[in-house]
Amino acid sequence: MLFEELSLSKSIQKAVYEEGYTQPTPIQEQAIPYILEGKDVIGCAQTGTGKTAAFAIPIIHQLHRIVGSSKKSKQIRALIVTPTRELAIQIGQNFDTYAKYTNLTQTTIFGGVSQIPQVDVLKKGIDVVISTPGRLLDLHKQGFINFDYLHTLVLDEADQMLDMGFINDVKKIVKLTPNNRQTLLFSATMPMAIRELAELFLKNPARVEV
Ligand code: AMP
Repeated sequence: MLFEELSLSKSIQKAVYEEGYTQPTPIQEQAIPYILEGKDVIGCAQTGTGKTAAFAIPIIHQLHRIVGSSKKSKQIRALIVTPTRELAIQIGQNFDTYAKYTNLTQTTIFGGVSQIPQVDVLKKGIDVVISTPGRLLDLHKQGFINFDYLHTLVLDEADQMLDMGFINDVKKIVKLTPNNRQTLLFSATMPMAIRELAELFLKNPARVEV
């Protein structure tokens, strides 16, 4: 399969080709069509399989269509929750790469650093937030985060978030988001607690596995 068969907008195709990607990886080939249809997805995939692009590319495509070249104030339309600062930064770099010919913007939020620059970015308005759980809840409690416009929520590396003791924070975050959101859950393994999480928060999900 070729990327052009996925009917992605030209601005995304161009960015992907410039990265030297010619074909979607198996997880991308399976997940991208479901995500573009608006379905919830459970993806069983490790790092290194191209799973970041498997959710980032269709999210950018959807948001590009929703937001377009609108000059309206920016609202958080996609949230990616991930266990570590390193992963958040890596995902943020991927978004910047695939979205470089759109006017979508992203920011990464994590603990252990001053919240002031993070709050400044949120106040100006941003389309995509990539965050670790604790700082996100903290900033939400302080009133700096509004999920009213959220279209898609991604729980990335769900099993690692469980292992790191973030599961209750993750549940709290999901409950702060609108019910009509699209939810994507990616995990390298599917222990019972993750299957229960998916059961609780995903609606009739498509399952993809590599
Ligand atoms: P990930 O599993 O998201 O950590 O991605 C692993 C690596 O694969 C990253 O360096 C990506 O840039 C790269 N990658 C993702 N999708 C593709 C693709 N379709 N073709 C070639 N490389 C890719």
